[in-house]
Amino acid sequence: MDNGRKSMEKTVKKPELAFASEADLLQFVKSVSEPAYRAKQIMEWIGKKRISDPDKMTNLSAALREKLKEYFSCSGVKILEKREAGDGSCKLLLGLEDGESIECAIIVAKDGRNTFCLSTQVGCPVRCSFCASGEHGLVRNLTAGEIIEQYLLSSSIIGKAPDNVVIMGIGEPLLNYDNLVGALEKICDPDGIGLAARRVTISTSGWTPGIRSLARKGRQWNLAVSLHAPDDKTRALLIPGKFRRDIKDILDACKMHREATGRLLTFEYVLLKDVNDSKELASALVKVARQADAKVNLIPYNEANGGFTRPDRETVKKFASVLERAGVPVTVRVEKGFESDAACGQLRSSAEKRRNK
Ligand code: SF4
Repeated sequence: MDNGRKSMEKTVKKPELAFASEADLLQFVKSVSEPAYRAKQIMEWIGKKRISDPDKMTNLSAALREKLKEYFSCSGVKILEKREAGDGSCKLLLGLEDGESIECAIIVAKDGRNTFCLSTQVGCPVRCSFCASGEHGLVRNLTAGEIIEQYLLSSSIIGKAPDNVVIMGIGEPLLNYDNLVGALEKICDPDGIGLAARRVTISTSGWTPGIRSLARKGRQWNLAVSLHAPDDKTRALLIPGKFRRDIKDILDACKMHREATGRLLTFEYVLLKDVNDSKELASALVKVARQADAKVNLIPYNEANGGFTRPDRETVKKFASVLERAGVPVTVRVEKGFESDAACGQLRSSAEKRRNK
C-alpha cells in the first residue's frame, strides 16, 4: 500500500528466514535436494521454538544450516544494549544488518504478564514535537522479517511467548503498512508463531488511510490512537501537518474499525505541562472518548524533546479524575524507568549521538 507517500525500503537481496512461508521453505529444501520434512523442522524452529538463527537449529546438519544461511537472510537483528528496570522489564537497543538501530521493549506487569513493544521504522516521518524517535525523520521502513526478529529475540530473553504485543515502538506503523501486516500475519499464524490476534495492539498517530485499511482487513487486532489533544488546534502544536488528520476524520475511521473488527479502541494521551493538561481539555476529552467509546491511557511526559515538561502528580491525578468521574475508563501509564533514556526513541537517539561524535 502506498499510503500517499514514497516509501523508503531496505533493499532485500535475499528472502528473510523469519518471514519465510512453508512454500518458501519447501522450495528451499527442494533446491538443495533435502527431504520435504526438513521444511517442517525449520518451520518448527521459528514458529514453536521462536528461533531464526540457523546455527541454533540443532536437528539440521551443519551443511544444511550453511545452505540456509546462503539462501536466506538470517537473524540480521542483534542486541547492542540492554537496559533493565529491575522488575524483569527491559529495553533493547537493536542493531540491523545495514548498521541502523532500533529499539524494542519487554514490559512486565505487576501480575507477571509480559508485553513486547515492537518498532516498525528506523526513525519516524511523523516527527511529533515531543518525541525523540521522530527527531530526524524517517531513515527507512523495517522489513517484515526485522519486525518478526524483534519478537523472536524478545521471546528468547524471557524464554517463552509473550502475553501481548504492542506496536508502539519507533515509527508510525501504518506508514509501513504492508510490512507491518505481513509480520503480524506471520506472528498470528496458528500454524506458525501462533499469537492470538486479540493480543496485538497497533498504535498509530491517527493515520486514517491506514486505520481504514486495517478495518477492511478485518483482523482482530486492537487499535490505539495517539490523540494527545481533544481538539485540532492543540493537536497541531504536537503533530506536524503532513501526516496529521483532523479529529473528525480519526473518529470516522475508528468507527469503521470498531464496526469491522469489534475490537477495543484506546486513546493514548501524552500529558504535557501547560499544553494539554488543563481541566477544560480533560472535559473536552471526555466528549471525544465517549463519542468513540474509547478508553484513555494517560502518559505523563518523559522528558526528551522539544522543551516540554511533565505535569506534576497532582495535575495528572486531577486530569484523570475528570475522566473517571464522567465514566470514561482511564489508566495512567506507570513508568518503568529503564534507568535513563526511558522514553521511546531515546536509547537509539543517544546511540546515534555517540556514533556521530
Ligand atoms: S510519537 Fe510516534 S508517531 Fe510521533 S514521532 Fe514519535 S514514533 Fe513517530
